[in-house]
Amino acid sequence: MKCPICKHGETLSGFATVVLERNKTTLVFKHVPADICDNCGEEFITENISATLFKEAKQAIESGVQVDVREYLAA
Ligand SMILES: [Zn+2]
Repeated sequence: MKCPICKHGETLSGFATVVLERNKTTLVFKHVPADICDNCGEEFITENISATLFKEAKQAIESGVQVDVREYLAA
């Protein structure tokens, strides 16, 4: 699709690294499937995937994780 941020680039499917920070918890998800703009580098993640990330983040926050780096595993 055309990039809605810069309006010039085309998005290509690839993988992104997503960092979620909330309170004292920092979570890094690697190899998250994303569409990435070939012009500005903006990463677009589908709603399904971001919902999964937030669910995992919530569990990590509740279990008191401070910093964690994990691979995104497709359900
Ligand atoms: Zn762009």
